[in-house]
Parts: sequence; structure tokens; C-alpha cells
Amino acid sequence: MKIFSVSITSISLLAFLITQNLAQDERLDPKLTEIWEHVPAVVTPGDGTAPPSDALVLFDGSNFDEWVGRNGGPVRWELKNGVMTVVEGAGGIRTRRSFGDSQLHLEWRAPAEVTGKGQERGNSGIFLQDRYEVQVLDSYNNLTYSNGQAASIYKQHIPLVNACRPPGVWQTYDIIFTSPRFKSDGSVQSPGRVTVIHNGVLVQNNVEFQGNTVFRGQPEYEQHSQAPIRLQDHSNPVSYRNIWIREL
Ligand code: MG
Repeated sequence: MKIFSVSITSISLLAFLITQNLAQDERLDPKLTEIWEHVPAVVTPGDGTAPPSDALVLFDGSNFDEWVGRNGGPVRWELKNGVMTVVEGAGGIRTRRSFGDSQLHLEWRAPAEVTGKGQERGNSGIFLQDRYEVQVLDSYNNLTYSNGQAASIYKQHIPLVNACRPPGVWQTYDIIFTSPRFKSDGSVQSPGRVTVIHNGVLVQNNVEFQGNTVFRGQPEYEQHSQAPIRLQDHSNPVSYRNIWIREL
């Protein structure tokens, strides 16, 4: 009978605590957890993939004003019908400005005429802070090493899926980048991170950069501050349009 009486006591105690808790919750003013001091800035979203009101437009199809070519000289890429296209041998192009944490939108198109295969088919790339490549490649029915296909973090992270559209069709990248932080002695305080959405599909989910993108060997970090975005000349006539960025 002792066990029985203990159980009754326990149940009564539990019921008492629940009632007390409910009563206490009702006494709490919900206003105590409302935040009014910080009001987010108003941003007017763009129609479709058009830049939102607070974006910096890096390329709207009319000029290369925000870009420089090899050695800081003029851009030697083709500009035609609102589209820029890599000219083989002209070299990569860089933004005049430098960026840190940011949200980048751009659209790219691999050549409609398929000539090469693997890494030689519609290859270009977006180098964040001039160092960390989000691969651009025609990966539509085009096998290559997985950590080098479209939307890979080149040789560091395989995309979650292959969301490539066919060659000749425009594709979107939306890239959310967190810059690496360095200690004063040059060592890494926190690595860079990136999220990539390819044609509306999440393909890189806040993955960590292991260091500078390299073709051979293992990536390593080098201390740096904000840096330009570079678009790669990999000898294939890949086109770009509608490029804008929001600094975070
Ligand atoms: Mg590339």
C-alpha cells in the first residue's frame, strides 16, 4: 500500500506543478519578449531575378564599368546584346571593388555548340575574393570528376545534386558567402563558408572552404582582406549576364 500511496502523492505533486506552471505562464506579459528597437531596413525586391533595391549592380549588360581585365587593364571579353562572353586568351576579369560577406547573383550560359568534353566543356568559374572557386561547367550529360563539376567548390565540395540546364540555356547561381577571418598572426580564426543555389536548387549548404582553390595538391589559406570577384577565362566561350551583389 505504501507504493500505492507514494504514486498518488507523485501524481498530485505533478498536477500541482503543471497548474502552477500554467498560472505562471499566464502571468507573463508576452510583450516582455517583443523586440521593437531594431527595425530591418526596407528593401524592394526585384522582379524575378532583377536586383533588389539595395544591390550593387556589377553587370547589367551595357558596359564593363565595374570590371577590369588582365593586370588591371581594359576587359577584352566580348560584350554583345547585353551579354558578356569569355574570349579565349583574354584572361579572367575582376571587379574593381573588393568584397567580404555577400550575396551574389549571376547568370551564365555554356556554349550551345558542344565541342569538348569533361573539364573542356563550358568551363569558367567564379572566384570569390579572387581565391575560392565556385565551378562553372557544362555538366549536362557530361561526366567529369564530381568535385569539379558545375556548382562544385572546385576540388573541395561535390554539389548535393546536378541541377544543370542544357548547353545554350541560361542558368542562375545565387551564392551566399561568408569570408574567412584571420588572426593577427595570419592563422585562420574561422574558415570561409558558402551556400550555392543553382537554378533555384540548393547545391552547397553552408560548406567550409579548406583554403585557396588549387588545381594540384591540397588547398591552404593565406591571410587576406576583402578582395575582388574574378570570373575565369578557361578558354571556353561561356557567357554571363545580370550580375549583382549585396554586401552583408
Ligand atoms: Mg573553372
